[in-house]
Amino acid sequence: MCGIVGYTGGQQAAPVLLSGLTRLEYRGYDSAGLAVRNGEADTVVVKAEGKLKNLSEKVDGGHALKGLCGIGHTRWATHGAANERNAHPHASADHNVIAVHNGIIENYVEIKEKLTHKGYEFSSDTDTEAVVNLIDYYYKKYKVGPIDAIAKTLVRVRGSYALAIMFKEYPGEIYVARKDSPMIIGTTGDETFVASDVPAILNYTRQVYYIGNLEMARLTPGHAEFYDLNGDIIEKPLTKIEWNAEAAEKQGYEHFMIKEIHEQPKAIEDTMKAYVKMGDDGLSTIDFSEAGLTKEILADVSQIHIVACGSASHVGYVAQYVIEDLARIPVRVEMASEFRYRKPILDPKGLVVVISQSGETADTLEGLREAKAQGIRTVAIVNVKGSSIAREADHVVYTYAGPEIAVATTKAYSCQLIASYLLAITCAETKGRLDAGQVSDLLMEMGTIPGKIQTILEDKERVQRFATGFAAMHDAFFIGRSIDYAICMEGSLKLKEVSYIHSEAYAAGELKHGTISLVEEGTLMIGVLTQSNVYEKTLSNMQEVKSRGGFLMGLTTAGNYTVEDTADVTFYVPKTDEHFAASLAVVPLQLLGYYSAVARGEDVDKPRNLAKSVTVE
Ligand code: GLU
Repeated sequence: MCGIVGYTGGQQAAPVLLSGLTRLEYRGYDSAGLAVRNGEADTVVVKAEGKLKNLSEKVDGGHALKGLCGIGHTRWATHGAANERNAHPHASADHNVIAVHNGIIENYVEIKEKLTHKGYEFSSDTDTEAVVNLIDYYYKKYKVGPIDAIAKTLVRVRGSYALAIMFKEYPGEIYVARKDSPMIIGTTGDETFVASDVPAILNYTRQVYYIGNLEMARLTPGHAEFYDLNGDIIEKPLTKIEWNAEAAEKQGYEHFMIKEIHEQPKAIEDTMKAYVKMGDDGLSTIDFSEAGLTKEILADVSQIHIVACGSASHVGYVAQYVIEDLARIPVRVEMASEFRYRKPILDPKGLVVVISQSGETADTLEGLREAKAQGIRTVAIVNVKGSSIAREADHVVYTYAGPEIAVATTKAYSCQLIASYLLAITCAETKGRLDAGQVSDLLMEMGTIPGKIQTILEDKERVQRFATGFAAMHDAFFIGRSIDYAICMEGSLKLKEVSYIHSEAYAAGELKHGTISLVEEGTLMIGVLTQSNVYEKTLSNMQEVKSRGGFLMGLTTAGNYTVEDTADVTFYVPKTDEHFAASLAVVPLQLLGYYSAVARGEDVDKPRNLAKSVTVE
């Protein structure tokens, strides 16, 4: 969500900042701005509403702004309208302190009131301006340096933030601080960068420092010095980023979303490769030693709470069915945004599994912290190495989806499914419900998923034709039972988030208890039928819809040809073990969402109002 880039070094800063912000565009934003300083001259601030292109035009691609040090921002408004006045950077009245901020300052009203009494005037509606002026206030009142002024401010503010700050009396220097909002520092021999995410600086360097919560840093060309809240220097290791910028490019695809849909076979293979090993006896086994998850730990687990948001929570619903069926451990799926506030009752022998692509999802992070505060063991399924959730969880099962750029998740979701199957199988084995041969058979079957997805993708034009024909629809309903219901949740979300077509997922048996009243002539009803024990039941529910004029699309496994007696159109996915059906059935639904959005001319990779990693509660 939103973006920060900062630079100090030997190049002109503005073009570097603009190119970095462009790399963060996919995260969603509504305005942008730059502050650049030429030596000791006054800092120049330029802002623009809307797309980065507007800002870039104002400064001639950066060439109109001279200076070797600067900060840039793309804003995703939380406090105050999305206009130029509220865009960042924000400055104190005399430009003593200029800053960009990601996140939310929760007690900004109280700070603003206090500062107004002291004579400060505010020129925006943002929470950010309160921090900027508070830093200025402490800096002047105590006549201290930037680090002490920032430290005093951090003690006073509540909320989440990544801040990049410039001080009038410290030309060529950028100061940064963070709490619960992502931020990294990059360096080459003689330049230093700060960014809210790695892609922003990958064109320039792969050497990064991860700055921790409530830590600060002073950046000078080629050098970064880290401080704790007491103002004491702390040492940080320099880490090398292994993936490259090319992985984050479109490579000939029209959109990142369709590229990432096609990358699913490879992403799943990479994720499996990390954990599935071939034993000397020719049997495949799961090795979670990278995550420190031993059999002794899992053997003791009494119940599992899966805490996640959005698509990651839909993975949780699939996992719930799979774990309960294979391991017979009770599982509860919790919306992360609710979990924390309902004072959850957790068994001391329970396990809390959090799932997040970015590892920065604020709701999920807080859920993780709630579990830890109660002393419960936590496992994180996360895609981004070194992210906050990865750092704070007791155990991390990484997914190897690579960078996911499209806001609507596809390949990360698919890899999370794989990680959760592996967890389910491991739990089942430790509980003595699967023997080594059965584990190996299931893993062999999982190994066929990438190839089967490839087969589905080869027939994508059929989904495209269907989606294009239905692109003008207003509503769509998805129905299914058990794992099929969990698949429906993800299919429905994919459709609505990128095409803006209203859609709902319903447990098939629940439809007749109210929602069926919405069915009228031509209403699209998508029935998902991959689970044999509920196949007939869902088919009957589809029939009920058809009798009321609904148009039926069936999505089922090859061989279930009786669907065609009921459905108006049917899509088939290859056979697999039914526990893994979500991995295949989701693919035509991702394509349905994608092609519907394309047909309607929507901004597929950056749907309105959405952000990639939701770092606010
Ligand atoms: N809360 C700040 C604002 O509304 C920062 C938003 C962001 O993270 O972009 O201006």
